[in-house]
Amino acid sequence: MRTGVVACFTICTAMLASAAPLAAQTGEGFQVERYGVELRPDLASGAVSGRETITIEATGADLRALVFSPNALTISDALVDREPAAVTSGEDGIVFSLPRAKQPGAAVELSFAFSGFPKRGVTLTPAGMHTGYFACDWMVCLQNAPGDKADLELDLFLPQGSDSLGVGERYATLDLPGALVLHRYRSLAETSPYLFGFAAGDYPAETVETPQGTLHYLNATGEPADLSDLFAQTPEMVAFFAQRSGLDLPGGSYAQLLVPGREAQETMSFSLIGKGELDREREDPSSAWIIAHELAHQWWGNAVTTQTWRDFWLNEGFATFMVAAWEQHRYGEAAYQQELDVFRDRREQLRERGWDKPLAWSGDYPSLGYRRAVQYSKGALFLATLREEIGDEQFWSGVRAYTRAHAGGTVTSVDFQRAMEEASGRDLAAIFDEWVFGEDGTEG
Ligand SMILES: [Zn+2]
Repeated sequence: MRTGVVACFTICTAMLASAAPLAAQTGEGFQVERYGVELRPDLASGAVSGRETITIEATGADLRALVFSPNALTISDALVDREPAAVTSGEDGIVFSLPRAKQPGAAVELSFAFSGFPKRGVTLTPAGMHTGYFACDWMVCLQNAPGDKADLELDLFLPQGSDSLGVGERYATLDLPGALVLHRYRSLAETSPYLFGFAAGDYPAETVETPQGTLHYLNATGEPADLSDLFAQTPEMVAFFAQRSGLDLPGGSYAQLLVPGREAQETMSFSLIGKGELDREREDPSSAWIIAHELAHQWWGNAVTTQTWRDFWLNEGFATFMVAAWEQHRYGEAAYQQELDVFRDRREQLRERGWDKPLAWSGDYPSLGYRRAVQYSKGALFLATLREEIGDEQFWSGVRAYTRAHAGGTVTSVDFQRAMEEASGRDLAAIFDEWVFGEDGTEG
C-alpha cells in the first residue's frame, strides 16, 4: 500500500498461454457447490497430502471435462460419481474427464487424492504453518473465480498440541490414533476460493469478546508478543465497521494471526498481520492501516465480494477507504485528509503516466503497482468524492443498504451504483461513468 508492501495480493487474471487446446477453460461449464478436503499438512516441511471431494452443477451443454486451476500437486485416484476418471495436470489446469457428457443442471461428484509441495500460498514459521490467498496451490479449486462462492468443509489432521484456524467454525475436535487430532471446519457462508485458508501450529492466543462478535489474537512469530496491546484498537474498529455496514462481524468471530515480516492478507475468517508492519505503524498510529484494512475486508471483500476481478475495486477501494474513514472517526479530520492526499497523489502519478483508468477497466496493467493505484487508491478516492457529492447521511445510508443487501453474495459496480442512487434519490450515471465505467458509459 503506501509502504509498497505486498498487501492483499492482487491478481494476475490472465490465463497462461495455452500450448495445446483444452476441451474447456478453467471453471467453464460448471459451478462448484461444495469443496470437502481432508488435509494432512506436514508442519515441518510444508508438504500436504489428502483427499478432496468437489460437488459441482453443470451449467453448460455437453460438459465433458472439469478444469480447475493449475498447481504443483500430484493428483491421483480420480473418481467421477464413483467411477474411475482420467485426470491430467499441466500449466493450463487440472483436467478431469467425465465418463459421460453432462447437461445443465446435472450434479457431479468428483473425488481424488493429492500430495506434494504447494508452490505458493503456504508459509512455514517457527510456530507452524499458515496459508494465504493461493488456496488452489494446496488444494484443488478455482483461484480466479471469486464469483463462484462455495461451501468449504476442511478436515485438518494435526499433531497433538497444535492449535488451528480455518474457514467458518471448528465444529469438532477428535483425538485419533497415532497422536493425531482431527480439527473439523465448515464454512458458515459460501466463500470465494481465494479466501480459503488455514493455519496450524503452537500459537499463544488471547480471546476478546465484543458486542459485535468474538476476536481471537494468535502469535505465529515464535517470539514473545503482547497480543492484547498490539491489537488493542481492534474492538473499537469492529464497532465502527459494524455501525458503518449495518452488520455485526460476519460469522460472529474473527482471528488475527501475528506472523513474521510485513505480510498482510485476509482470508474468510482470519487475517495474517505482519509483525514488522505493525512495529512500523506504532511509530505513527494515525497512519496505521494493516489491522483496519484487513478487518474491513470481513465486510467488503469477504461478505460482499466482487463477481469478477474487473470490479476488484469494490473489495480493495472499499477496504482502503474504510481505513481513512476509521482514522477520521478515531483521530479526526486531519488524519482523513492526509489519507485522501495520498490517494490524490497516487492518482496524479497515474495521470502523468497515462494510466488513470476507469475503476472497472478490464485491460492489462503494466505492473501490479499501477493496478493497485487504480483499484485501491483511486477506488478509495472515488468513494470519498461520492461521499462529498451526495452528502454524509445519504452516503452512509447507501453503503449500509448495499452491504446488507449483498452480504453473502457477489456484486458488480452496477449493484453499488443502484444502491447509492436509491439512497441519494439521484441519478449518479455521470459520476459513475466518469470514475468507474469510462467516459462512454460502457463497462469496458
Ligand atoms: Zn485488501
